[in-house]
Amino acid sequence: MNRTTAALLVATALACPAVLVAAGEPVNQTVIAEIKTEGFQHSSVMDTLSWLSDVYGPRLTGSAGLEKAAQWARDQLTRWGLERAALEPYGSIGRGWDLEHFSIAMTAPTYMRITGYPRAWSPATASPIAGTPVVVDVKSKDDFAKYHGKLRGLIVMNGRPAPEDIGFKPEAERYTDAQLKERESRIDPALHGPKSYWDEEDEFVKYLKDQTDVWKFFADEGVAALVSPSSIPEDVRVDGFYDREFHSPYPAFVFSREHYGRIMRMLDKKVPVTLSLDLAARLTDHVEGFNVVAEIPGTDPALKDQVVMLGGHFDSWHSGTGATDNGAGSAVAMEAVRILKAIGVKPRRTIRLALWTGEEEDYFGSVGYVQKHFADMETMALKPEHAKLAAYFNLDNGAGRIRGINLQGNEAARPIFEAWLEPFAYLGATTVTTANTGGTDHMPFDAVGLPGFQFIQDPLNYESRVHHSSLDVYEEAVPDDLKQASVIMASFVYDAAMRDEMLPRKPLPKPHKK
Ligand SMILES: [Zn+2]
Repeated sequence: MNRTTAALLVATALACPAVLVAAGEPVNQTVIAEIKTEGFQHSSVMDTLSWLSDVYGPRLTGSAGLEKAAQWARDQLTRWGLERAALEPYGSIGRGWDLEHFSIAMTAPTYMRITGYPRAWSPATASPIAGTPVVVDVKSKDDFAKYHGKLRGLIVMNGRPAPEDIGFKPEAERYTDAQLKERESRIDPALHGPKSYWDEEDEFVKYLKDQTDVWKFFADEGVAALVSPSSIPEDVRVDGFYDREFHSPYPAFVFSREHYGRIMRMLDKKVPVTLSLDLAARLTDHVEGFNVVAEIPGTDPALKDQVVMLGGHFDSWHSGTGATDNGAGSAVAMEAVRILKAIGVKPRRTIRLALWTGEEEDYFGSVGYVQKHFADMETMALKPEHAKLAAYFNLDNGAGRIRGINLQGNEAARPIFEAWLEPFAYLGATTVTTANTGGTDHMPFDAVGLPGFQFIQDPLNYESRVHHSSLDVYEEAVPDDLKQASVIMASFVYDAAMRDEMLPRKPLPKPHKK
């Protein structure tokens, strides 16, 4: 803490007893102001996002696009003055897939250009598949017998979506004060979130297994192609067709609900419909996974071996350009370290950025990193670096501004984060909640007892529209929100790098029993 700040804190504390808590956790207001000036008045975050989405998106794990994006990020970080920028390998991710061309249409009884996308890892078609589709409804094993032996060589449309309402609810929203208050008042971290990494993982593995059983059924039945309706209206959400073991012999497509519904209703009326499906894609065996890493080295001889990490996942799905999931979080994390370099901070601890890949498939990158650097997640055998990680801050819930932070049950961190958020109260970032949140890369850190945190972000239209959809594009990002998030992330990382102590930790988890 410099002298100006100390004086300021004392003055504020005297004038207003409410900030005494904040005064107990020193915050260097001079540096925070410099971070704000750089991040709000000289921002690069939207330019970075445009490179990551417009130029190098989408960034599907295992695709050539992802690798080019990562190389650009590494080089850009180096240009900004970060050190040791690299693509750090974490092992094989299985197969790679690059989309080269596709066309999908209804060709009879009239022509309709279909809004839809192939699922990633679909094999190419040797020539366009044309035919009259059949509509089935296979959700689980219980439905297999009904269709057994009846689907060979057919284009199968799976599912009978009910029409949605026409959209009386607003698509994009910000958290209301009441919603934030409700989050803040929770006392059970796991009430609306996962109990633990393993809880979430077990659930995901089961979901994947159930899905794979259905996909395998269609493979055994010898279908020509599989079509599913989009899970959201007016747009195409395409994800979840990845399995390390199951290599689909047929191509799969997702159609917009509206086009899928039209075809389904015509088939119900016995009107013959012809579909034409064509796909050119390149499958690659044994792609090596990597994370993008870069550092601002620490300067305090006693603390520089300790590390504060920030990041988010860098990979995306493939129908949009991955602008909000998670180009936004990646651009914000990159912007945070750019800001810190630009204002010339000399952090006591080392600040390390990590942009993960393989998150969408099952946290491949962050799990790989945690296992390599910190601990065996199963046995909880710790590595020396485990003792040196001060904290990890993750951003990956779309392009909404930061409204606060989830403690993941780490109550000892509450007064610290309250103090760190105080300079951003006027920008709506006030909520510190004990709640667990899952679904992203802080979870593997949490699994080995390291303080890993994900911020609370305004939802905007993330779930309703852009998440994993073809509208996950640059236009859906809100510039002021990303500037706000960048400045808060830079400040948190700076605060964590300068603090006398590392961040408090929860008790070490026990080894995981299968
Ligand atoms: Zn994501």
